[in-house]
Amino acid sequence: MADSVPTVSELFAAARRRYEQLFGGDAPLIAVCAPGRVNLIGEHTDYNQGFVLPMALPLVTVVVGSQTCGRDVTVVTATEHADEPHRVDFSLPADGAPLAPGLPRWANYVKGVIEHYRAPPVTGFRAVIASSVPLGGGLSSSASLEVAFYTFLQQLQPDDGDKVSKAVACQQAEHSHAGVPCGIMDQFVSVLGREGHALLIDCRSLEATLVPLADPGLIILITNSNVKHSLSGSEYPLRRRRCEEAASAMGKSSLRDATMKDLEEASDRMDEVTVRRARHVIDEIERTVQAADALRRGEYKEFGRLMVESHNSLRDLYEVSCRELDELVSAALEVEGVYGSRMTGGGFGGCTVTLLQAGAIDRTMLHIQERYSGTPTFYVTTPSEGARVLSLP
Ligand code: ADP
Ligand code: MG
Repeated sequence: MADSVPTVSELFAAARRRYEQLFGGDAPLIAVCAPGRVNLIGEHTDYNQGFVLPMALPLVTVVVGSQTCGRDVTVVTATEHADEPHRVDFSLPADGAPLAPGLPRWANYVKGVIEHYRAPPVTGFRAVIASSVPLGGGLSSSASLEVAFYTFLQQLQPDDGDKVSKAVACQQAEHSHAGVPCGIMDQFVSVLGREGHALLIDCRSLEATLVPLADPGLIILITNSNVKHSLSGSEYPLRRRRCEEAASAMGKSSLRDATMKDLEEASDRMDEVTVRRARHVIDEIERTVQAADALRRGEYKEFGRLMVESHNSLRDLYEVSCRELDELVSAALEVEGVYGSRMTGGGFGGCTVTLLQAGAIDRTMLHIQERYSGTPTFYVTTPSEGARVLSLP
């Protein structure tokens, strides 16, 4: 019942075929991939300098390609992409001139990465992208594209940075070229994720701790609601602004430094909506640390309880859930063997993540399918490895 997802080798083979068709039979000399991610808990905390607990997914974006002479760049996406051409051609600007965003929109993620790459490429290249990460589904196809592309550029011309600076450069690409003021989580876990582990990221210090998560008795199920409400783009910057207002009303540089007591004391200096938004963030940061501890101890029930608390807070205080996500979570929680379930990602559609006993997987998917008013897509996932170079056969 779970969606069948192409493997990395299948994606690679498809990308290589496309490359050979397009570029006169030449085989690509470089192949890399970077994963999408699911956030287990810690939602809307990253841009508040808090904690998040994501894991890298077996869903990946693959980039294959080769260097060319001159400064011309051609990039083709083999991924279905509504309303936009699949191919973009441009030249690397001379003398450090900026590479401005434009159309197609998807190419801005690529241009942004070139712009923020720590050792700007001096020669052109041709590349083909293939991905199994659903686009716009909340599993961060955007970060997987940025990080895969950065990894591709590293093969063309090595940079001098570490992995954290790579994640930061990809985040900056999304800010400047896609216009999305995202936090660091998605790019960070796409670079640093490890097989068999979730990653507890302190978004203030950018320190990450691996949390083992490789129990054969446990399943992490992602359910895509297959809806995305148009609110998601406009509401995100509004939430960010509220958080900044709340922090400054409390005299703090971010909500990471605020306590519930600070919030109570300063609540007459904020409107009621701002107080609710801040309450979610302050609680969620604490919940994420507790959840990582529960996972380390193998206390899945406790972890599940915190997931449900997180969902309720996102629904009632942060107000970023929607009817479809609430339906999916309620349905999952009705099944015996489910520890917890919550919306994951920015909200207003996208996916839920559910933690359950392996033996309960079939009845869980069946029950969700029966109860959900839309058409869900399921991914049974395991924590996977971050960005990597693929060896060419
Ligand atoms: P999410 O990151 O949750 O999937 P976003 O809206 O942040 O959603 O990013 C989705 C956008 O990223 C797409 O609309 C497209 O512009 C770009 N993108 C991601 N992956 C690809 C790909 N394989 N090919 C072309 N564009 C892609
Ligand atoms: Mg994204």
